[in-house]
Amino acid sequence: MEYYSKQISRLISELSTLPGIGAKSAQRLAFHILNMPTEEVQNLAGAMVDARQNVHYCKHCFSLTDDEVCPICSNPNRNKKVIMVVESTRDLAAYEKTGKYEGVYHVLHGAISPLQGIGPTDIKLKELMQRLQEDVDEVIIATNSSLEGETTAMYISKLIKPTGIKVSRIASGVPVGGDLEYIDEVTLLRALEGRTEL
Ligand code: ZN
Repeated sequence: MEYYSKQISRLISELSTLPGIGAKSAQRLAFHILNMPTEEVQNLAGAMVDARQNVHYCKHCFSLTDDEVCPICSNPNRNKKVIMVVESTRDLAAYEKTGKYEGVYHVLHGAISPLQGIGPTDIKLKELMQRLQEDVDEVIIATNSSLEGETTAMYISKLIKPTGIKVSRIASGVPVGGDLEYIDEVTLLRALEGRTEL
């Protein structure tokens, strides 16, 4: 990209490191940014830097938040005795959109994948087990229905069984290999309501 000056090339190359942004999109975005009012560009850059610096894990459920405790965990109306285990904060958001789930969550930040070298200690499993020392009635496993998601679900249920806490798995209304965040709310609700005890 020698036909662009150094700073334009740098902008394009930084943008192209983002997921889903190829060389062409990066160029398009770069020229869009160059045409934006300086103030808007500052707002955009500021939002990125602020979010990156201030967003961290909720100390209870490990979802992403800029407070010490996320809005769901700090809501007195949520049932803290029911914990839904999800792979990512995006999956949590998918269930929140249904507006029907009243329990709390636990975000694993990944799934067990021997192929990719991701083991139980690489996700927030130990933290889940620590939470189960408190008064918990049910753990709903809502990992994706991919191989990794199923492996993780089995692993978790084996860990929890000896504690006597009820463990359930969301129904398979969710298509195999389906990514929770792309599934419509009705299907998600059906999967939740039709969950089976493990
Ligand atoms: Zn939380």
